Amino acid sequence: MIKLSEAIRLGSMIRPQTYGRLYGARDVPIVGDVLGLRQERVASCALGAAYEAAGCPSKTITAVADAVGTREPVKAGAAAIMVTVPPQWTWSLGAAASCPMCDRRDVVIRLIAHLNDEHLWSRERVADWIETLEGAPLAATHQRNWRSLQRIADARRSLDEIGKKYR
Ligand SMILES: [Zn+2]
Repeated sequence: MIKLSEAIRLGSMIRPQTYGRLYGARDVPIVGDVLGLRQERVASCALGAAYEAAGCPSKTITAVADAVGTREPVKAGAAAIMVTVPPQWTWSLGAAASCPMCDRRDVVIRLIAHLNDEHLWSRERVADWIETLEGAPLAATHQRNWRSLQRIADARRSLDEIGKKYR
């Protein structure tokens, strides 16, 4: 499955960038459409690009409690769009990071919208930043595992030595 950084890059090739919302849309008349109008996506933000490239399913839900949305708070009872992201991206919903441009500390997924909207970063630049975070937790975990394996090996070695001494 596609990484979040890759999805942002891929999605940004589909259409130009927009700010403050997932997608810029315009009404286009469709021949034979009795309602007369249809919404067509014409632009995407960094998140919208990622969702589009990965084909993330979304649906409109009614918020059961006050919640913090990606861009703004969602009041209980209000309609909100819920996007289901691939399992590989769920770290971005829980991991906090510092904005590379200001002092803001927030969950990574909200920082993506923040960099897109407030600092007007290109989606490619956002993708480069996300890529540094995608590598970091894995490398840290790997190093931790490697160190504990080393400790186990060391402990086993010293147990062997003790065993030899008393045999
Ligand atoms: Zn910032």
